[in-house]
Amino acid sequence: MVKIIGLTGGIGSGKTTVANEFASHGIPVYITDQEAKKLMQSDAVLNQIREEFGESVFENDVLIRERLSEIVFNNTIKLAKLNSIVHPAVKQHFKQWLLEHQKDSFIIYESAILFESGSYKDCDFIINVVTPLEIRIERVISRDKTTRNKVLERMKNQWNDEDKSSKSDFIIDNSSVEALKLGIVKILNFLGIKQMNS
Ligand code: ATP
Repeated sequence: MVKIIGLTGGIGSGKTTVANEFASHGIPVYITDQEAKKLMQSDAVLNQIREEFGESVFENDVLIRERLSEIVFNNTIKLAKLNSIVHPAVKQHFKQWLLEHQKDSFIIYESAILFESGSYKDCDFIINVVTPLEIRIERVISRDKTTRNKVLERMKNQWNDEDKSSKSDFIIDNSSVEALKLGIVKILNFLGIKQMNS
């Protein structure tokens, strides 16, 4: 049976970069954030968003994500509402995706909120990506063209690294590309996964 490797880490730690590296070794990866964005274009989710947030977050029937983000950014009740629409849709979609990967030995399930959402309970192994805070902040500022304060604000609601690492089977240090690649090779070796691009 396919084994689920949960992959998490703080904002900007490099989860997606690590997931892509695993994919280059032939391991199927499910990137929750990317799938959630796609699902937010589906009729089922759009209808619920319209019901909850009204027409003001739409323009010509198209969801304006920035307007939705503005509403939920400083409103925990609205954020919880949005999550209660999007998270079950992702969960259901992943379940279906997993059925299509039953013949694989391993898959990677990447989620920023693996622990916070409770999804870690469904994983056979867990990897936490750890990167020094200042490097994470710099990388996110440069990737998202945002400000330090906004990054810190987004980091506020996440578990800290110590708590995540203590519940993880593996820790990948992503302070450099070399460290990241070394960490991945160690995990592939430990799990007995043949490396495709070495
Ligand atoms: P988020 O939680 O915001 O989704 P993430 O944990 O998925 O972020 P990535 O998007 O993978 O993080 O990485 C953050 C930024 O840092 C990206 O622009 C990525 O290209 C860059 N990055 C990741 N790892 C490294 C590295 N080892 N060296 C230099 N840049 C890196």
